[in-house]
Amino acid sequence: MNLKIAVQKSGRLHDGSMQLLKECGIELNNGGKQLRILSSNFPVEIFFLRDDDIPEYVQDGVVDLGIVGENVMLEKNKQTRLVERLGFGKCRLSLAVLRNESAKTLASLNGKRIATSYPVILRSFLDKNLVSASIHEISGSVEIAPRIGLADAICDIVSSGSTLFNNELEEIHTVLASEAVLIANDQLNEEQRLLMERLLFRIRSVKKAKNNKYVLLNAPNDKLDIICNLLPGMKSPTILPLAQPGWSSVHSVIQENDFWNVIEQLKDNGAEGILIVPIEKMVL
Ligand code: ATP
Ligand code: MG
Repeated sequence: MNLKIAVQKSGRLHDGSMQLLKECGIELNNGGKQLRILSSNFPVEIFFLRDDDIPEYVQDGVVDLGIVGENVMLEKNKQTRLVERLGFGKCRLSLAVLRNESAKTLASLNGKRIATSYPVILRSFLDKNLVSASIHEISGSVEIAPRIGLADAICDIVSSGSTLFNNELEEIHTVLASEAVLIANDQLNEEQRLLMERLLFRIRSVKKAKNNKYVLLNAPNDKLDIICNLLPGMKSPTILPLAQPGWSSVHSVIQENDFWNVIEQLKDNGAEGILIVPIEKMVL
């Protein structure tokens, strides 16, 4: 039996999804434009679909799992389970108004018209925040709506903000922070569940490795205490004496988020020959 996974056929999430599967050691040879491919070394079958269709196919059990933006999962509101956030396809769904608009608060949207392709998410957000505005659903080119008098504000996907800027719009509030997520049918059988767990184990190892770096450095012995305190590592750093008296080699793992901070402090405390090495997989 194969685990069936839906991936966006083409578009912003396609490459990230294929890259993740590859990093999980799943070989997929997509020679041409096939809509369905089998892995040669793991019992999965990949289906390439429009992202909008994925939540429904997962709900109906046409596929067992799917990779979609959290924004699409929430908007479609099908019966599926969010299994794991995947760390790519990051963007946000935001409210924006024309830059020359004077009122730029949520409350100022009361009684206004908001254009969006995300009416379900927006309605629930407005209700929760007690804003009473009307929603004008359009399927694309949402950002031009205010300039052509179709709406007073928009609620749309933003990543860098340059599309907003080019359309004389200014973001006033984030409605949702989104990234690619793995969703699952909520009635998988035992065999499907076990396969999903095997895949998840790999996905989590890849994600952890991406957030961590392996660091090697040389430290004067009289600074070892301070330097080791800067390097929490998985248990504690490995310390090996160097051939040169008075010096040791220190090996550890540091987190990507406080990476530069830690490196600067290591240097300030006498560390030399600092090497940072990417970690391919991390199994804890
Ligand atoms: P499909 O043809 O499969 O329906 P689409 O055109 O609806 O694709 P894409 O533009 O490929 O969708 O975006 C897919 C997902 O990528 C979005 O739902 C969102 O989660 C994410 N994303 C990340 N950054 C952006 C961005 N700048 N603009 C739009 N979507 C983004
Ligand atoms: Mg789509």
